[in-house]
Amino acid sequence: MENSSVNQKIINGLERISKAFRVLLWEKSKLYKISPIQIQLLIFCNTHKKEDLKVSFLATEFDLTKATISDSIKVLLKKELLTKVINVKDSRSFTVQLTKKGKEIVEKTSDFTTVLNQSIDFLSEPEKGIFLKQLMQLIYQLNQREVISTQRMCLTCYYYKKDGNQHYCNLMEKPLKNIDLRIDCDEHQILQN
Ligand code: SF4
Repeated sequence: MENSSVNQKIINGLERISKAFRVLLWEKSKLYKISPIQIQLLIFCNTHKKEDLKVSFLATEFDLTKATISDSIKVLLKKELLTKVINVKDSRSFTVQLTKKGKEIVEKTSDFTTVLNQSIDFLSEPEKGIFLKQLMQLIYQLNQREVISTQRMCLTCYYYKKDGNQHYCNLMEKPLKNIDLRIDCDEHQILQN
């Protein structure tokens, strides 16, 4: 019998959405014979700053150990989907970048979220804004409880201010509507307690 508490219903809903995410990613994984985490790493490399693409940063981002990320990167290097860029000041340190072949895989796989996208479009713009804000609050709580390490969102940013229901970014010097809140912002600065 379904646990009827509201919390449990929300948890069940989140679990189903997470399952949809995994199923969609897995379809691409089978099609291109690359593991789901490797696909996610390639897509991440395509959308983030070159200097961030280090094993330690990726491990934090994906909430995985450095050893696990290193193993995935070794495979992607071997498959020639990524290439190493050695730091000229420290030959032990390196970043990775996509090869032409890696970019082609990103083009073929990054649309795995299309169905999710279409499903979200069922919501109106104000509903999307409220949903985004609530998701961020949930992520923030999980982050504060050290379950996930995602940090680059407005709610954990030094530049973020809130006055009543109004959000404000001190870096861009402008108010943010709910739909403008960022969940993965390159300009994010960690808020020091
Ligand atoms: S810098 Fe980015 S994360 Fe920080 S408040 Fe502005 S938009 Fe949000």
